[in-house]
Amino acid sequence: MNAMVQIYKRYFRNYKGALVVMGICFVIAAGESSMMSAISRYLVDDVMEVNLMLEPMLHGQPRDFVDKDIDLPNIPRDKMVSSREIADKPLPAEMSNRKVLTADIPADGALADRIQARPGKPTALKLQLLFWVVVIMFTVHFLAIGIQTYGNVLMCNIPKQIVLQMRMHMHEKLMRLQLSFHNQHQTGRLMSRAIDDMQVIESNFANVMTTLATIMGLLIINISIMFYISPKLTMISLVVMPFYFYAHKVLCDKIRVLQRGQRKKNAALYGFIRDRLANPRIIKGFGQEKRELINFFVRSKGIFRDNRKIVVLNNTLSMICTVIAVLATAVPLAYGVMMVKRGELTVGYLLFFYGVSWGLFWPIAVLSITSAWIQMLRISCERVLEILDEPIIIADRPDSKPLESFTHEITIRDLSFRYSEKHPAALQDINLTIRKGQKICLMGSSGAGKSTLGVQLLRLYDPTSGHIVVDGVNLKDIKISSWRQRISCVPQEPILFSGTLASNILYGNSDATREQMIAAAKAAEIHDFIESLPEKYETVIGENGMRLSGGQKQRISLARALVTDPDILVLDDCTSALDAETESRIQRTFKNSLSGKTVIMISHRVSAASNADMVVVLDHGKIVETGVHQELFEKKGYYWGLVKDQLSQHHILPTPDPCDEKSKCAAA
Ligand code: ADP
Repeated sequence: MNAMVQIYKRYFRNYKGALVVMGICFVIAAGESSMMSAISRYLVDDVMEVNLMLEPMLHGQPRDFVDKDIDLPNIPRDKMVSSREIADKPLPAEMSNRKVLTADIPADGALADRIQARPGKPTALKLQLLFWVVVIMFTVHFLAIGIQTYGNVLMCNIPKQIVLQMRMHMHEKLMRLQLSFHNQHQTGRLMSRAIDDMQVIESNFANVMTTLATIMGLLIINISIMFYISPKLTMISLVVMPFYFYAHKVLCDKIRVLQRGQRKKNAALYGFIRDRLANPRIIKGFGQEKRELINFFVRSKGIFRDNRKIVVLNNTLSMICTVIAVLATAVPLAYGVMMVKRGELTVGYLLFFYGVSWGLFWPIAVLSITSAWIQMLRISCERVLEILDEPIIIADRPDSKPLESFTHEITIRDLSFRYSEKHPAALQDINLTIRKGQKICLMGSSGAGKSTLGVQLLRLYDPTSGHIVVDGVNLKDIKISSWRQRISCVPQEPILFSGTLASNILYGNSDATREQMIAAAKAAEIHDFIESLPEKYETVIGENGMRLSGGQKQRISLARALVTDPDILVLDDCTSALDAETESRIQRTFKNSLSGKTVIMISHRVSAASNADMVVVLDHGKIVETGVHQELFEKKGYYWGLVKDQLSQHHILPTPDPCDEKSKCAAA
């Protein structure tokens, strides 16, 4: 319930006025049956004057006398008599407290005359009143429909507005949350929260609030009316309430547990489907379609089973509530009939009581459906809040300043980093200075920590200890947005969005001119390919560039980084899928287009290292060697070993000594 209160306070409270109006509309609409009952009472008691004690004759004797088989003294049963005659007779003891008619009713004559002669209002007046009662009934009915419709319109609009705001917050949060959060949460599961749970809140929050408000309103108003009509009948009616609440609690607890499990399974299924749909090549490549179908079936079956149990429990609850509601209205009705017979209640009031109690218990019976919504809502609110309340770790400090330009150097001081407590250190005691305009190549075996150092420079993670200092300012004191304008990254795995080639290249700088876009594409050696396509830069590439080869995707990703014209460029093995010729062409273009820029190149290729101003060799998260290619090569240390392995893999180095083959390095 706490999560629901939190969501109410943050989002729904601003719309309090509209919600109150909505609640009032629904209370009025729900009170329609009570209003109708009140009108019925007037109709029965005051217009029709149906009163057992005033019911004059049945076979010439008051109904009670006939029912109880009592013969009035000196009046034979089959004789029609006037009420005056009855009134004149002494009554038996048990009838003495009753009213007796005083009006004359002819024992013979036409029926119309006899009716006309009944006591009370003249028939013409009654018919006139009847007409007005019908008019009032219709008016109340139409007003209730109008009010209910207005409430429904509010109900449709307000939650949508509120949830739109929530969706914006959720999306913003997901965009701002650090990578460590995204690493821990499967995309599909996050999607399930951003879409499904929001949908549950949109459909049910206002509904639940107004239903609860309506029930509260009805509880207060209807119980007061019931007490006014007959405290005794009200007590009989309410005696079942504890049973109702008990059944409600027991079954709702069970439903909640099942629903929570079901939401989790649903989110897992989302993740499963997303993974599979994103990678059809792997599934088909390994011929695993059947296995994936079985996997899907097993997961869906679990959700189906939970669903079935929830439906059974909901129906049981609904049945119990309905039985209780029927008992709570039928038992007082039966007792009320006896009260009418005893003259303690009029027929009209009995009908009024019945209408009001039904108007109270029926919505309470419907509460069983509302409880299912409440349970779902509660879980969805919790799941949405988990994301909305997730702390953003990589954020601007209050006193952080924008970096106007990068002029001197980046210094990495005693930097160590681990992805989480559970993981070993990915970087340890890194000390490095990168001067403006330098081309650095990070080398090392797979898992050495090269990409991790790259993401540290981008400030996608903060160091566990140590600092990165840019032109003398701690990176944490620089506004993140301004730093990300200075630095750009081309990741190892090129990620493209569905859309046109142009929209992908311009992603980081939508203000760039067409000429700038083409220049970036040319520098990335992708312009000629794009020009060869029928729709050129306007070609739609499908989800994650499904219609492109790995190398083409890498070059578009490269063009995207180049078009932002960054001061610092981190290239994370972004040419791995290119053939040697294309790569060396790119390297040549880079010489011109990247002159003056600081480049941190993560690469396995000796060719990249041999062109760099400085090679930094990493092993197990530590810097083991730094220097220029030639120097390190001659040192015959770790770097030399890497080069040796690479050259022998390419069969360029038949002998164990790579030093004689230096000239061939560029080809590797
Ligand atoms: P390289 O780029 O040199 O191949 P990485 O920097 O990618 O190496 O990885 C360095 C170490 O950090 C490896 O042991 C790797 O398993 C670990 N690592 C990389 N990314 C993550 C991550 N998101 N969560 C946990 N550990 C990671």
